[in-house]
Amino acid sequence: MRRKLFILLAIILFSALVLAAIFNLRQAQELNAQRIRDQLISSTELLARLPESELEPETLAAIIEHLNQKTDLSLRVTLIAASGEVLYDNVKNKDNLDNHLTRAEIQAALHGQGQMLTRHSASLGQEQIYYAVADKNGDKIVRLSLPLQIERDEILAFRQRVLLVTVLTGLALALSLHLISRRIMAPIDHLTEKTRSFAAGDLSQRIEMPEAPSEIQELLESFNKMAAQIEFAHSELQSQREWLASILNTLSEPLIVVNQELEVIFANHYAQELFARPIDASMHPYPQVLLTHAPELDDFLAETIQTGEIQRREISLKTMEGEKYFGLIASPQREDTAVVVFNDLSAAYENQKMRADFVANVSHELKTPLTSIRGFVETLQTRPELSPEERSSCLHFIEIESARLERLIQELLILGKIEAEEEREEASAFDFTALCDEVLVQLEELASERAVRLIPAYKDESCMIRAHRDRLKQLLLNLLDNGIKYNRRGGYVELSFEVKPEEARGEKRQRDLIITVRDNGRGISKEAQKRVFERFYRAENSEQSPAGSGLGLAIVKHIALLYNGTCQLESQPGEGTTFTIILRGIA
Ligand code: ADP
Repeated sequence: MRRKLFILLAIILFSALVLAAIFNLRQAQELNAQRIRDQLISSTELLARLPESELEPETLAAIIEHLNQKTDLSLRVTLIAASGEVLYDNVKNKDNLDNHLTRAEIQAALHGQGQMLTRHSASLGQEQIYYAVADKNGDKIVRLSLPLQIERDEILAFRQRVLLVTVLTGLALALSLHLISRRIMAPIDHLTEKTRSFAAGDLSQRIEMPEAPSEIQELLESFNKMAAQIEFAHSELQSQREWLASILNTLSEPLIVVNQELEVIFANHYAQELFARPIDASMHPYPQVLLTHAPELDDFLAETIQTGEIQRREISLKTMEGEKYFGLIASPQREDTAVVVFNDLSAAYENQKMRADFVANVSHELKTPLTSIRGFVETLQTRPELSPEERSSCLHFIEIESARLERLIQELLILGKIEAEEEREEASAFDFTALCDEVLVQLEELASERAVRLIPAYKDESCMIRAHRDRLKQLLLNLLDNGIKYNRRGGYVELSFEVKPEEARGEKRQRDLIITVRDNGRGISKEAQKRVFERFYRAENSEQSPAGSGLGLAIVKHIALLYNGTCQLESQPGEGTTFTIILRGIA
C-alpha cells in the first residue's frame, strides 16, 4: 500500500516535472532563436546605416570583432556591391567568393526587404542564417550571417542545465515524498496492524501515537473510541450470554439449541455429559446427529425451524446412562434456530413397559399350569379305558399343577401386598433367632427329601429386633427354599445373621440386620446373576425344578427395599451361592 502510493505520487510528480521542463525548454528555445535573429537583424541594420565613408572593410572588421566578443556569436559579415560582387568578407577571402547577386537575401535587400534565410553555405560548408540590408543609397549591401550551429549549441547547453535541474529537483522530490509518506504511512501501518488483531478477537487493542500528524491523530482517536464501544458492547453481550448459559446449565434436563443447518450451537452441561460430547458448541458447532445419534431428528428439527411452530416427539436415545426414553419439545427461536428440551420419560416408560410385561408374564405363568390341568381332566373324561394307575397318575399331575398354581397366586398376592406397603405399619418386637429356628424346622422335611443339610450358623441366643415378622419369615423361607431347591444331594445350606452395632443416625440410634444364606449348590451363571431379582426370571436350567415361579427373589428384593436394604449375591457356577441381605433401621 505504502509502496504503491509512493510510486504513484512519484510518477505524477515526475511527469509534471518533465512536462514543465519540456515546456520551459521549448519556450527558451524559441526565445533564444528570437534573440539571435533579433541580434542579427539589429546588427545588420546598424551596419547598413553607417555613413558611406565608414562602410569600409576595416571598420566593418573592427565592429564585427567587437560584436563577436560582446555577444559570444561568430558573426560573419559580407559587404556586397549592388552588382553582386563581394567587396569584403571577414571570414573568407573576397577573391575566392563568387558573385552573390543571385542569393535570395541579396535580392530581397535590393528590393528593400530584409529577409532571414537559413541555408547551406558553399564557402563555409555549414548551415548559416543570413540577413542582408542595402545601404541608404542602395549601392552596397551588408550581409550578416552566423552558423545555425550556434543557436543549437546554446540550446544544448540550456537543455543540459534544465536536465540537471530536473534530475536534482526529482531527487529532492523523491526524498521528501519518502519522508512524508513515512510520516503518514507509519501510523496507518500501525492502525492496520491493530485493526487486524482487533478483528482477530483481541478487543483490548488501542493506539497511542502522539508523533502522528493531527489528521491521522483524529483517525486514531476514532479507532480507539470505536474499539472501546465494541469492547463494552461485547463484554455486555458476553456477560448476558454467560448468565443465560449458567441458568441453562443448572437445568437437570438436557437442552440444546440448533441452527438452520441443524448444527448444535449450544448444549447445556447436562446434555454434554449425557451424550458424552464435552465440546463448547458455541465455539465449534457440530451436526446434531453427532450428539443424539438420531438422524431421524433432522426432519423434526427442520420442520420446527421452517414452520416456526412448537413440535413434540417421543424418542428413545442412547446416552451415557444407558438407553433413555425422551419426550422432546422443540420451540423455534429468532434467527432460524430452535431450542430443544429433552424430558426424561424413561421411568414412566419403564413403569408402563414393566406393567405390560408383568401382565403378559402373569397370564403366561397362569396359563401353563391351567392348560396342563385341563389336559389331564380331558384325558380323564374322554378315556374311560385308562387303568386305575394311569388315572391316579393323572390326578397326581393335576395336584402338582394345582399346587404350582396356588403357589404362584399366593406369591403374586404377597408381592402385590409388599409393593403396596411402604410404611412398616405392623412392625413388632420379636426374637429373630427364634424366627430363624422356626423357618429351619419348617423346611427340614423338604431338605431331608433332597438330602440337603440345613446349618444354623448363628449364636444360640435371643436377638430382639423390631420389624415385620411375617415379611422377614417370607424372606428367609424364599432364600433357604432356593438354597435347597438349587442344591445337590449331600449339599448344605447355611444360615447366619448379625446385627451391626448401634450407629448414630440422626437423633435415633438404629441397627442394621445382615442375613447371609450360603449354599454349595449349582451356583448361578454371570449373566443370570444380573437378573435373578427380576420378576418371573428363572435361570436356564431351572426347568429341573418345576416348583419355581421366578418370583421368590423378587419378593426378597422388595422386602429388603421396605427396609431401605440391599441384596447382594456372590456365586460360582458349580460351587455354590451366597446371598447377603442388609436390612436397615431394625430398632
Ligand atoms: P424360582 O421360583 O424359580 O426359584 P426365584 O426368583 O427364587 O425363582 O429364583 C430365580 C432363579 O434364580 C431361579 O430360577 C434359579 O435358577 C436361580 N436361583 C435362585 N437361588 C439360587 C441358588 N441358591 N442357587 C442356584 N440358583 C439359584
